[in-house]
Amino acid sequence: MSSDTRGRMTITEQGDALVLAGSIDETSALHELPASARSGRLVLDLAAITFINSLGVRDWIRMQLAAQKAGLAVELRRVSEPLMHQLNMIVATRGSAAVTSFYAPYACDACGREESLLIDAITHAERLVRLDPPPMTCPDCRSAMAFNDFPERYFSFLSV
Ligand SMILES: [Zn+2]
Repeated sequence: MSSDTRGRMTITEQGDALVLAGSIDETSALHELPASARSGRLVLDLAAITFINSLGVRDWIRMQLAAQKAGLAVELRRVSEPLMHQLNMIVATRGSAAVTSFYAPYACDACGREESLLIDAITHAERLVRLDPPPMTCPDCRSAMAFNDFPERYFSFLSV
C-alpha cells in the first residue's frame, strides 16, 4: 500500500453539517454518509473538497442514490469549484440534492486578482436562473469583479 495519504478525505461534524475535506476517491467511504443523517436530513459542507477522481464520482453517485432511496433530504452547502464541475457535467452527481451555496470563479480586471467566491443560491436564485452572476467586490482594490466562467455552463446544475 502507498504511504501517501495526502489529501485523503476527512469528515468532521460541524453544527448540522458534515464537513468533508480533501480528495474524494474510492477510499472516501461515501457510502457511510447516509447513516449520519439527522432527522431525515443529510447536510454536507463541501468547501474544502479539492479534487474528485472517477471512482470518487462513481461512489458519490451511489451515495446520492442510497440517500434518495432512504428518503433523505440532501443539502450540499458551500460546494467547491472542483465538485461544481462534476455537478454541471454529470446530472447523476447532483441526484435530488439541493445546492444551497457554492463557490464560483471571479476575476478583478483592475488588479488581476482571481478568487473563488461563495454564492448563496437561495438569496440569488432568481438571477442565477437568468444566468446572471451576482456582483462581487474585489477584496484587494474594491473594484467590481467579473464572473470568470461561462454562466450557462457553470449554472447549468440549476436547470436539471
Ligand atoms: Zn482588484
